[in-house]
Amino acid sequence: MTWLRLLSDGWNIPTQIKADVMESKYEGANLDFESSEVKKCVRYLKEIDFELAYLALLTCEGLKPLSRWEKPMDDNGLELLRQTGLLTKRIRRTVKTGKKIVETIFSRSPAYIWLYEQLFGNKPIDKSAQTRQLEGFLFGYPPCCVNEYIHKPYAPNKIGTEEQKILFHWACRDCIITPVLLGAYKSIYDLLNSC
Ligand SMILES: [Zn+2]
Repeated sequence: MTWLRLLSDGWNIPTQIKADVMESKYEGANLDFESSEVKKCVRYLKEIDFELAYLALLTCEGLKPLSRWEKPMDDNGLELLRQTGLLTKRIRRTVKTGKKIVETIFSRSPAYIWLYEQLFGNKPIDKSAQTRQLEGFLFGYPPCCVNEYIHKPYAPNKIGTEEQKILFHWACRDCIITPVLLGAYKSIYDLLNSC
């Protein structure tokens, strides 16, 4: 198992997290949606992109340990994420053609930011089974769904089309975790729509 191998290869959970990560406003608490400041911040994020605001809230609420934004993001977007209490980091990657791209990752946890950077920072983008498993772990996807997706992407499942749309993973055939997650995802999705 990759995860165990990484640990046995001598990867220590960091005692020294980079200063820029520690300096951001990490509070680790869930968002207070009654606060007008929080609402304002979420609305601005929605103006940038609804999906970005949705990912930010799912991450703030701890449903996703870490999220990745692949579209360009300026300093304003980064600052808005920080104002919701998330830690952010820009990660440089390359694609097959050699072209360089920048991803933005955000999390409540400095350890997840660090792990992502160690695993994928300055590395080419790949879609190997190992990468999918690691990403699934970091993004909060049920392992059953990740494993089925690796072997048979988009296999028929029992999740409704509308419900599948508010998820970021494809649910596996007889998933018992996704229906539980869906309730939590749905309440955040509805909250965001009413914000
Ligand atoms: Zn599943």
